[in-house]
Amino acid sequence: MLNKWEGIVLRTGPYGETNKVVTLLTREAGKVTAMARGAKKPASRLAAVTQPFTHGLFMIYKGRGMGTLQSGDTLHQMRHLHQDITATAYASYIAELMDRLIEDNQPSPAQFELLRQAFHAIDEEYDPEAITLFVEWKMLPVAGIHPVLHQCASCGATEGEFAFSFQEIGFLCHRCFHVDPYLIRLSPSHLRLIRTFYTVPIEQVGKLTLKPATKKFIRKIVRTIYDEQVGLRLKSATFLDQLDRMPTFSRDEPPAMKGRNEETASDDDA
Ligand SMILES: [Zn+2]
Repeated sequence: MLNKWEGIVLRTGPYGETNKVVTLLTREAGKVTAMARGAKKPASRLAAVTQPFTHGLFMIYKGRGMGTLQSGDTLHQMRHLHQDITATAYASYIAELMDRLIEDNQPSPAQFELLRQAFHAIDEEYDPEAITLFVEWKMLPVAGIHPVLHQCASCGATEGEFAFSFQEIGFLCHRCFHVDPYLIRLSPSHLRLIRTFYTVPIEQVGKLTLKPATKKFIRKIVRTIYDEQVGLRLKSATFLDQLDRMPTFSRDEPPAMKGRNEETASDDDA
């Protein structure tokens, strides 16, 4: 059956001398793998549309096994994602995270929409580190983790001081700090930011200006969950950590969000 699916390229690999195997996350059919015959030849009409991160419309013939990519139209090339090494590194990390967590051929429209918004935001030069935090927190349920972030995970209180507990996988209020000796204290802005990353769609965030230390702190929490609770370690994380240590990348931070509507967040009071 020939299908027309909107998709984004998560991964490509060579197959023989001239072919590629392409893994796409599609809006309609979830994660799909297809053979792109001849796509390794630069002159192939499939060469451009099978580049990593490409957002396009894909005509895929799908029988029982692996699909065959017949043709494709690029909707968005993601130029900045390819040209800026930091953007490329974060996009690779997001693609690998999605690829590892999403099962083949399971409809995943929410995850497609998350990926589409994340790649477009990074391509529009929003802070890729902040965008990646939205993806990491929102993908936790796909990994089987449902953190308790709307109330205390132990007593249900919504008022008070809060900490993050890896044992409870969620927030603990000050009345329950004794429950976990290894909890991590959170400022009110940390609390608000974590909730924003977990619940607010990327496109609804109006303005988000985050200090490098704040991003690092919140990233450490979510990466620890993936590491210890999910057992997920990504190859592309190593490169991100290397970028992090390079002084040339501690320049002025680009705004995470600008000119969008409604929600705003910052760590000014962190
Ligand atoms: Zn409590």
